[in-house]
Amino acid sequence: MTSDTPGETFRPEARAPRGFADKRARDLRAERRILEAVSRVYESYGFEPFDTGAFEYADALGKFLPDSDRPNEGVFALQDDDEQWMALRYDLTAPLARFAAQSWETLPKPFRRYAFGTVWRNEKPGPGRYREFIQCDADTVGSARPEADAEMVALAAAGLEAAGLPRGAYVLKINNRKLLDGLLAEAGVSDARQKLTVLRAVDKLDRLGWEGVKDLLGKGRLDESGAFTKGAELDPAGQETVGEFLDISTRTAGVLKALAEMKLGAAGEEGLKELERIEDALNGLGLTAEQARFDPAVVRGLEYYTGPVFEAELLLETTDEKGEPVRFGSVGGGGRYDDLVARFTGEKVPATGFSFGVSRLAAALRAAGRDAAGDSRGPVVVIAFDQARMADYFALAGELRGAGVPAEVYLGGSGMKAQMKYADRRLAPAAVILGEDELAAGTVTIKDLDLGRELARGVTDNQAWRAERPGQVTVPRAELMAVIRRILDGAP
Ligand code: AMP
Repeated sequence: MTSDTPGETFRPEARAPRGFADKRARDLRAERRILEAVSRVYESYGFEPFDTGAFEYADALGKFLPDSDRPNEGVFALQDDDEQWMALRYDLTAPLARFAAQSWETLPKPFRRYAFGTVWRNEKPGPGRYREFIQCDADTVGSARPEADAEMVALAAAGLEAAGLPRGAYVLKINNRKLLDGLLAEAGVSDARQKLTVLRAVDKLDRLGWEGVKDLLGKGRLDESGAFTKGAELDPAGQETVGEFLDISTRTAGVLKALAEMKLGAAGEEGLKELERIEDALNGLGLTAEQARFDPAVVRGLEYYTGPVFEAELLLETTDEKGEPVRFGSVGGGGRYDDLVARFTGEKVPATGFSFGVSRLAAALRAAGRDAAGDSRGPVVVIAFDQARMADYFALAGELRGAGVPAEVYLGGSGMKAQMKYADRRLAPAAVILGEDELAAGTVTIKDLDLGRELARGVTDNQAWRAERPGQVTVPRAELMAVIRRILDGAP
């Protein structure tokens, strides 16, 4: 132990770093369920599992994060003993591009992989915004077809539904960055930084509304905290053009037709053609307009997107503990990134992908009351009375496990009453008591804790059911499993 003052023991405050979350059973189970459901969907479309390490060389990751005003441009980086800078991956796409560049010759092309894992971003934490979170991605590397983009949208819809969101509770919004590129070129904007500032401004439409975005397209915007964000310096005509373009998103019907009437320039025309092919493919993939629609306000924050971009938005009304409405932002997003592999090889390898934020999706499902109940149920607890009988308790727990029922022997030092309380707090379906009497008579006593909890909640007022489901029974040892099964099945 170190100490500041002689004779005084240094005691660090027990705290987790900001933006890093501790997750308990309920969170982890919910996340795992999502990962399993989404992985199954990805596999069913022919994507193979793949993973890379947590670190990449910093130059391989590039500087593509929207939050570039923090040290190391939004990543966590350190210098290796050979002086090379390494950074924790901030998404699963940049490492895939590195791998594809490295292994292109030997890969089946197009290369279709899915991946899930932790990513880290050194950005300002906030509600639903962590510095460590899990993503689950699917990508197709080596296909320039807009149909590959459409497939990403279909995958995302199937993934959300498999994770537990009903149709109508989400929408996949689709856009093409080439539209805005073309539009800005027509308006005389050619500077890459200026274009990026426009994209970032448009990305904030949801949060700031048109007036806020307009400020960011012009000179800049002063927020409530007094901080000033420099704008893109577009002239009023340029701002108006972007405004007209964004307005199209409010008219869901005939978006493509409305876009065709705008002066989009060569890049924009190309973008529009791609969107038309995506539309055809979506029809073939069986997606309805309720599931996926075009929205010119979607641009996505990451800098590496080159064409179509997608965003999954929740349409559910969700509230927090205080009943206040909660917004989750996007639960997933993606798009086409045709230049990411070429950064390494100089050769263009077109690619497209979609990424779910697993922690955010889990939180959203919970707030929407869509996380499956019963998952928090604990093990059957075998009560420990007597030190001399521990072997018998373990044998009993083993019997339960052997029959596929999670079980544990109480290993704390407390008495009977506290043990029952423990079992209840663990949400154990039952506690099993093997006292001297039971051991002598070859019986076992089973306390139905599920019933106790239901009675406490006042859920069960069905007298007949209550009469047939005793709170505690003593039965011959051979009947143990039958009683436990009845409790687990919730049958009287
Ligand atoms: P991105 O890689 O930025 O396109 O984000 C893809 C998805 O990851 C988003 O739709 C979110 O669900 C999730 N995500 C992004 N940033 C965060 C964050 N800081 N904390 C939690 N989830 C995030």
